[in-house]
Amino acid sequence: MKEVKPPKRPLIFYYVLVLAVLALLNLIVSPLLMRPRIDEVDYGTFMDMIEEENIGVVEISGDEITFTDKDNAHLYQTGAMYDPTLAERLHDAGAAFGSVSDEGSPILSFLLFFVLPLAIFIGLGQYMSRKLMEQMGGKNSLSFGMGKSNARVYVQSSNGIRFSDVAGEDEAKENLAEIVDYLHNPKKYTDVGASMPKGVLLVGPPGTGKTMLAKAVAGEANVPFFSMSGSEFVEMFVGMGASKVRDLFRQAKEKAPCIVFIDEIDAIGQKRSAGSGMGGNDEREQTLNQLLTEMDGFESNNGVIILAATNRPESLDPALTRPGRFDRRVPVELPDLAGREAILQVHARKIKTAPDVDFHTIARMAAGTSGAELANIINEAALRAVRAGRSVVTEADLEESIEVVLAGYQKKNAILSDQEKRVVACHEIGHALVAALQTDSAPVQKITIIPRTSGALGYTMQVDTADKNLLTRQELENKIATLTGGRAAEEVVFGQITTGAANDIEQATKLARAIIARYGMSDDFDMVAFETVTNQYLGGDASLACSAETQQRIDREVVELVRAQHAKARRLLEENRAALDKLSDYLYEKETITGEEFMQLLRQTQQAKGDAARCSTMRGRSR
Ligand code: ADP
Ligand code: ZN
Repeated sequence: MKEVKPPKRPLIFYYVLVLAVLALLNLIVSPLLMRPRIDEVDYGTFMDMIEEENIGVVEISGDEITFTDKDNAHLYQTGAMYDPTLAERLHDAGAAFGSVSDEGSPILSFLLFFVLPLAIFIGLGQYMSRKLMEQMGGKNSLSFGMGKSNARVYVQSSNGIRFSDVAGEDEAKENLAEIVDYLHNPKKYTDVGASMPKGVLLVGPPGTGKTMLAKAVAGEANVPFFSMSGSEFVEMFVGMGASKVRDLFRQAKEKAPCIVFIDEIDAIGQKRSAGSGMGGNDEREQTLNQLLTEMDGFESNNGVIILAATNRPESLDPALTRPGRFDRRVPVELPDLAGREAILQVHARKIKTAPDVDFHTIARMAAGTSGAELANIINEAALRAVRAGRSVVTEADLEESIEVVLAGYQKKNAILSDQEKRVVACHEIGHALVAALQTDSAPVQKITIIPRTSGALGYTMQVDTADKNLLTRQELENKIATLTGGRAAEEVVFGQITTGAANDIEQATKLARAIIARYGMSDDFDMVAFETVTNQYLGGDASLACSAETQQRIDREVVELVRAQHAKARRLLEENRAALDKLSDYLYEKETITGEEFMQLLRQTQQAKGDAARCSTMRGRSR
């Protein structure tokens, strides 16, 4: 879709234009109006002409005498001299005394040199201010365009975004397809008496394609698309936001049927606080009120459909979500495995990929990423290919770019001492080993001890074979054990612990807390949720609502849960000490190993161990 913008010229352009016109006037017009030219003559000639009685009009002013000849054809000028009888002689010669220099039409020259430039300047000034106002989004505004919406108008165009550009998100698309159908064929709906929802709220984490979906609705329905972000409404002056809302809806009604898209609606649509004065919220509340008024003020049947996006739906004012306003809510979730693969493929259309690239594997590795991140992964991979001087993007490029997007760039010159490197290798193998030894844990995709710019000294990439919706308590506990595996390995091998586990500890704690206070999986508390998620899509901040005593009990249970899993991890590692040592050494040498290499080595050592065990039992029996 193309954005329409008035061509902009700098102010100075207009001023130069006016000056040029004036200069031209002076050069061309004035000589025509004035007497052709003034001839400078000496006093002798003047006296001769008096003698010849060849003087028409004469004007004596100060030290200059201006006069014409008898036929008024020529204008002459000469310096005045002391000549007491001059006036008398002129009179005798039949000269008339009067004004000569101001000859030509005085009115015309007044018009030309005073009124005209003034008119030009005033006219220009008005033209400019109108232009400015139009640029700021409205007409005939005394406030000079302030408070006008900056809603960008996208002209409908066939190369706009379509549903096919949005990969995955099938439920959302299905939901929105109805709106497209309505815009195509409103009669079908009005005949039955059905009315479309006025507003549809797209909720989901950032980067999942909400904006894209809104554009796709406009693209599919082939209607204009107005887009504005909630934060754009909030202005410095009270009342401006409200007037922007008014203006946006006025424009939209003119262009109906159309789509109005308000991104980040939470910026204006937050719950109105009861009397938390400070004046700071006045502007936002007025803006919100205006939005509500506008939404009530029109019928959905007139073809304006409002789409809004937010990633914190729980913070929206209930007035916004009640029936008749944004009464339909379309979840736009993070893509699942199939969705990720589809998104990767959509974006890979734009780049040249090697034929052997397996997007399924890439999608599996990129668990938990959003559409925007996947788009970024594809682009990073393409950049990497260019950097390496290749003409196609390989699988290796994509794998590396996942790590770049998830963990930051490789920190090429980070200096890890030899000992540190050994500890990091042991730590990472600890995670991977605990994960692999617990039957339910996901296989390991890749382990590396190359430091990343994000600060991670190494990491273990775990891949869920399929996205899981339901997790058992056992699986959650295994996850905690895996998280503690790094620290446990350090303890088992070095008998010392380091700061490297800070992030693991944080995650383990969060998970343990959720098990007890949110998922109701603790024996003590049964199905009582003490913890509620306030920010579902933005990292999921949790707030705890319980008595201080209960809180203490929760804390105690959390500690016990983590401690038990930590002990389990340590036990697993101690039992498999040989594998731990061997794999750590291997990782230390290679710095990066794949999941397959890891599993192969693990199986080898386990086999050796198994053989040894069988030997010893046989020996035992023979004895
Ligand atoms: P949101 O509005 O949800 O924050 P956007 O719609 O702005 O996300 O998406 C940002 C970018 O991410 C898009 O321009 C697109 O390149 C990519 N993207 C996100 N989701 C998808 C998807 N489902 N299919 C294809 N591309 C997507
Ligand atoms: Zn760790």
